[in-house]
Amino acid sequence: MQDFKMSTNCLHAGYTPNNGEPRNIPIVQSTTFRYETGEAMGALFDLEAEGYFYSRLQNPTNDRVASKLAALEGGTAAMLTSSGQAANFYAIFNICSCGDHVVASSALYGGTFNLFSVTMKRMGIEFTFVSPDCAPEDLDAAFRPNTRAVFGETIANPALKVLDIEVFAQAAHRHGVPLILDNTFATPVNCRPFRWGADIVVHSTTKYMDGHALTVGGAIVDSGKFDWTRYPDKYPGLCTPDESYHGITYTERFGLAGAFITKCTAQLMRDFGAIQSPQNAFLLNVGLETLPLRMEKHCANAMAVARYLERHPKVEWVIYPGLPGSRDKALVEKYMPNGTCGVVSFGVRGGRNAASKLMAGLSLASIATHVADAKTCVLHPASTTHRQMSDEQLASAGVSPDLIRLSVGIEDSEDILADLETALSQV
Ligand code: PLP
Repeated sequence: MQDFKMSTNCLHAGYTPNNGEPRNIPIVQSTTFRYETGEAMGALFDLEAEGYFYSRLQNPTNDRVASKLAALEGGTAAMLTSSGQAANFYAIFNICSCGDHVVASSALYGGTFNLFSVTMKRMGIEFTFVSPDCAPEDLDAAFRPNTRAVFGETIANPALKVLDIEVFAQAAHRHGVPLILDNTFATPVNCRPFRWGADIVVHSTTKYMDGHALTVGGAIVDSGKFDWTRYPDKYPGLCTPDESYHGITYTERFGLAGAFITKCTAQLMRDFGAIQSPQNAFLLNVGLETLPLRMEKHCANAMAVARYLERHPKVEWVIYPGLPGSRDKALVEKYMPNGTCGVVSFGVRGGRNAASKLMAGLSLASIATHVADAKTCVLHPASTTHRQMSDEQLASAGVSPDLIRLSVGIEDSEDILADLETALSQV
């Protein structure tokens, strides 16, 4: 396909219908695929031929949408997963085993923190959490001989901390490991981490990509740039024969462009099966078609809300990376000059109680455990998504007890502001 720009790729990448074929990506609602001979199917099981045999591993609808995501991020290969959580788990577990170690930014989504610090720890994979603002020496000090990856979020949920991608990528590469970035909040419309040295990007497609709060989903995109073959001892799963696939060596057979995603599909989807349904992949694609339009409106509305809150006497503090006075102004100008995201975090005077009153007073904005969809919604992370964290962990994730996370939708900004005005008058 031609090298198109973002909006065109959001509509056209990943699927080019031939003469007389449907203009939209068809939903291939089938668990299984028919073959004329057992040998033909056997070649698929040996990864000797390309094709589909069972939708727990791969499905044509998913693959077309995944190809679109690869184009949007500028990667070489991609896959869809059943959720963002599954994407994060797969991306790390694909290159880490029991006894390995990962360096992660401490400013993370609560579910990701839990996955890393509780569930993956039980699998014997250890995480060291570092401040996203730490000095390069402190970052270096977090690495161990068994470190296999660095992980961060481009814009952290809900702390809205912008990561210095180049600093984290350079540290990862100095220590011979890839940088995996969760680009959910910025989306490729506002930030393309591969340009700045990230090696693998993950998404909760549940958020802006779907954009309408219809489907839970995730994605992994590989830049194809990390040279696993330079470190065969660290990444034996990619660089030595896989006995569960008749001795295939992924880097040899699929090259750097395809090894990571092929292994992740062939082994982890086969064994864990956290695949996105073709129906959901279809809906995700509908969302992707308007992603640039929606991101522009989300960002414009969020900026209007952040400016309004900044001036309001009952508001103690506001964090919106796009604000001219933002602590991350320089990082925003460098990594996402055209916009950040539609999420604004703030605290009202009076702490936790005032936060509850404010939330009860909102009527257009619904209280929802969600973020980043078309309709404005609001959440108090300390008592919901991040409630399992200690005060210390909350502080290092950038979540104060009074933090209100407002996911600004694409309604008319006047209506969102009027809703806030009414609610704040009741605090
Ligand atoms: N990553 C980020 C930044 C998120 O905000 C979320 C969910 O809120 C996830 C990952 C997990 O995604 P999912 O809910 O699709 O599993």
